[in-house]
Amino acid sequence: MSDTVRTRFAPSPTGFLHVGGLRTALFNYLFARCQGGKFILRIEDTDQTRYVEGAMEQLLASLKWAGLQYDEGPDAGGGHGPYIQSQRLEIYRENAQKLLQSGHAYYCFCTPGELEAMRERQAAQGLTPKYDGTCRRLSPEAVNQKLSANIPRVVRMKMPLDGETVVEDLIRGTVSFQNELIDDQILLKSDGYPTYHLANVVDDHLMGITHIIRGEEWLLSVPKHIQLYKSFGWEPPKMAHLSLLLNPDRSKLSKRQGDVAVEDYRDKGYLPQALINFVALLGWNPGTDREIFNLEELIKEFSLERVNKAGAVFDLAKLNWMNGHYLRQLSEDEAVVFLTPFLQKAGADVSDAGKTRKIIRAVYQKINRGDEVYGAAAIFYRDVLEISEPEALAHLKTPGVKTVLETFLKKAQALERLDMDTFRQAMKEVQQETGIKGQELWKPVRVALTGMISGPELPAVIEVFGKEKAASFIRQALEKYV
Ligand code: GLU
Repeated sequence: MSDTVRTRFAPSPTGFLHVGGLRTALFNYLFARCQGGKFILRIEDTDQTRYVEGAMEQLLASLKWAGLQYDEGPDAGGGHGPYIQSQRLEIYRENAQKLLQSGHAYYCFCTPGELEAMRERQAAQGLTPKYDGTCRRLSPEAVNQKLSANIPRVVRMKMPLDGETVVEDLIRGTVSFQNELIDDQILLKSDGYPTYHLANVVDDHLMGITHIIRGEEWLLSVPKHIQLYKSFGWEPPKMAHLSLLLNPDRSKLSKRQGDVAVEDYRDKGYLPQALINFVALLGWNPGTDREIFNLEELIKEFSLERVNKAGAVFDLAKLNWMNGHYLRQLSEDEAVVFLTPFLQKAGADVSDAGKTRKIIRAVYQKINRGDEVYGAAAIFYRDVLEISEPEALAHLKTPGVKTVLETFLKKAQALERLDMDTFRQAMKEVQQETGIKGQELWKPVRVALTGMISGPELPAVIEVFGKEKAASFIRQALEKYV
């Protein structure tokens, strides 16, 4: 095995990428990159009952969206392919044969009915259900007889019957398992397909994986895997098991309580750089209170030593804040590219690109998520002024409002063009003529133009409205609300 670090993300394509999966992928990516190693994508699709049409393509697209570029993988090539397990079935069969020959595995001919009865017996005796080793004890003659009679069978591994399997987990420290409690895991199913355990171990070895970084839910598989490595005479990779992602109430992050699919976050208008930054801090900490990191910075700062073994709480409010931060970092051009589809999806007419740009310019600093853009821009798509905010309504009833709005309307109407500059000039003149200034001058105009107490910058609003619409809204405000 070479010294180059090689990590892998090995998802089973289920039709969406779980945010926990994104974190696993990211940590593998960061660790490989910060060590100058390689990051590999392997598709673990040998469970035919979980096959979902198009799931792999979807997964590849989501990883690309997140910016996690792998060095080897189904559509990236590399010298250790194929990277899709369903294309490697022969390899698993050969390796299962090796274990049968070396006496580390055995054929099991027990029928589903027999296994069920076994489980019931064990449950009745208060034992943990586990294969009882019936076929492990068959004589070679009995096995040969059953094989030539072509009785359906699986291949099981022989777990040691006593002793402990110990692993030095890079996050959890020493973890040990009592061998007698561990099942003789099925390696090859009766349809000839490998189980996760066989395929995973064989591939991690053949693909030269040096470090396995994955979710805590796989920790229970470790003793089986370690024993398989031993049986093959292979050195196991180093292992690091990441803690669970938790809801704020510390229950396991689940679909019931919110979105778990990366695709849902994308569709709601989270930026990949925000989601990546957020997910990086789920379990890893930089050792300072700094929170904003781009991918390059994460590569520089990342270390497995700083990954925590306590569960990591998924705090949506923090993600929203972070997304707002990244949204405000976008250039106007980037904001237009990112937000136009969200306007369109919400039903806005985006055919006038110049107007759409002005609308986005006016609002994109004020929102946290892409799908908030239409709500923030609603005034630009209405001709009728409607004010419902109680605070805004109350404001229009205060003294001086009428004078300000009437004076402004007169000025605006006299202008040839109302734009940012003439607007500022007109407001200056309103102030001189009425003697009203500051909040008392600006607020009535803001409320009349936008219907809200706070919101986009007024000059930016004026740029979208132009003279006619601005005048119309002021008139409507005077007629309906003042
Ligand atoms: N195929 C497993 C999964 O769906 C991979 C677990 C591992 O990384 O070993 O996550």
